[in-house]
Amino acid sequence: MLMRRRDEYAEPYRVKVVERVKQTTREEREKLIAEAHYNVFSLPSWAVYIDLLTDSGTSAMSDNQWAGMMLGDEAYAGSRNYYNLKDVVREITGYEYVLPVHQGRGAEHVLMASMVRPGDRVLGNMHFDTTEGHILLRGAEPVNCLRAEGLIPEKEAPFKGDIDLVRLEEEITKDPSKVPFILITVTCNNNGGQPVSMENIRKTREIADKYGIPVFFDAARFAENCYFIKDREPGYAHKSVGEIAREMFSYGDGFTMSAKKDALVNIGGLLAFRHEKHYKQAVQWQIPFEGFITYGGLAGRDMEAMARGLREVLDESYLEDRIGQVAYLGELMEKEGIPVVKPPGGHGIYINALPLLPHIPRENFPAQSLVVELYIEGGIRGVELGGCAFGHKDPETGKDVWPELELVRLAIPRRVYSDRHMKLVAQSVARVRDRAKDIKGLRLVEEAPVLRHFTARFERVPG
Ligand SMILES: *Cc1c(COP(=O)(O)O)cnc(C)c1O
Repeated sequence: MLMRRRDEYAEPYRVKVVERVKQTTREEREKLIAEAHYNVFSLPSWAVYIDLLTDSGTSAMSDNQWAGMMLGDEAYAGSRNYYNLKDVVREITGYEYVLPVHQGRGAEHVLMASMVRPGDRVLGNMHFDTTEGHILLRGAEPVNCLRAEGLIPEKEAPFKGDIDLVRLEEEITKDPSKVPFILITVTCNNNGGQPVSMENIRKTREIADKYGIPVFFDAARFAENCYFIKDREPGYAHKSVGEIAREMFSYGDGFTMSAKKDALVNIGGLLAFRHEKHYKQAVQWQIPFEGFITYGGLAGRDMEAMARGLREVLDESYLEDRIGQVAYLGELMEKEGIPVVKPPGGHGIYINALPLLPHIPRENFPAQSLVVELYIEGGIRGVELGGCAFGHKDPETGKDVWPELELVRLAIPRRVYSDRHMKLVAQSVARVRDRAKDIKGLRLVEEAPVLRHFTARFERVPG
């Protein structure tokens, strides 16, 4: 079954509970964003009409998940919810050894602490920010081996999350003993939620086996990745997403997961292993940092919602609707002539701010300016992934160093917004584009030494 056109079906769920959202006026938004020093991270969420800041922990849970919350058996050790969770993980992945954690980075912490030593090099397609942080905290080096076209925004390709296998083997042969494992991030978050093909995963495993290196997945969006395989990779159209997931995990030795994405919950994470030896090492770090083996910083009810979410996310009508909605927003943008990263990934649309605001120099933050104007225009909150998030000052010359890309990400929460919301988003971006020449940009007036985009303060360039 291939993905249908958006107008051939409707949402595979109906609405049972609603949350009222406030609609502010343009004047109110002008005032609110000025008070937030032109940084949308400082806006209260009640002042946001359509919140596309992240797809993490923002999913709407189902009636089945909420019902499961009432069945939380709040035991310190051995709650039935833990065993349910373990069963689901085993069913989906074939992995026996399961540790719940408070969120994805908790799993990364435990994995890196138990397996990565100073001087090691962790290879992968492209590590997520927190993953990279945990590798660096161990005194090790994160090495990205993403295929080159994965970083070209206008390049259309089905699997832009694939590993460059030649590069991977070159990096391994520098010193195989320094590679504790290979980590494949599915989908690849940092280049826009681009999928990894089964062929690439299988070949990565073959290379890893030559050198006796384990393979792990960062499985935050594993179901979205498996749906892309079904839709795009020859030989998979007739397999169920569940079968595809089982095959994918068969090439690995374990996974870390932020359950705030494809487990359709608002908090939680997972770490799981095929082999007891990896598990036993991890438990040494799990207990002091995350909590006992059978709860890992979560309540029983959280684990129950996670277990149920993991079953639900494999529903193909859900995945078609989910991936279809993101693609639909991409189409609307293209119809409006808005430059976006292609093809759309699994969890959001990335706008290229440079051609949209060509007159704003990099030091006046075109993408951040677009984020601010989009909020003023429609009460829509996106996030800057450009000069503020990734730029820095050269320590020797004191000059600004800018990243190649200047993007705005509009991440789509799961089962939350309708296609009418998507239309409004595309229209609002188009309206900002229509008045682009009047937008003067921003000046950075306060920044933290690391991860500056979360707390940076800006001023408008006068004019
Ligand atoms: C979100 C995410 C993480 C970190 O998970 P948290 O739940 O935010 O701690 C790690 N890897 C990927 C690919 C992610 O998307």
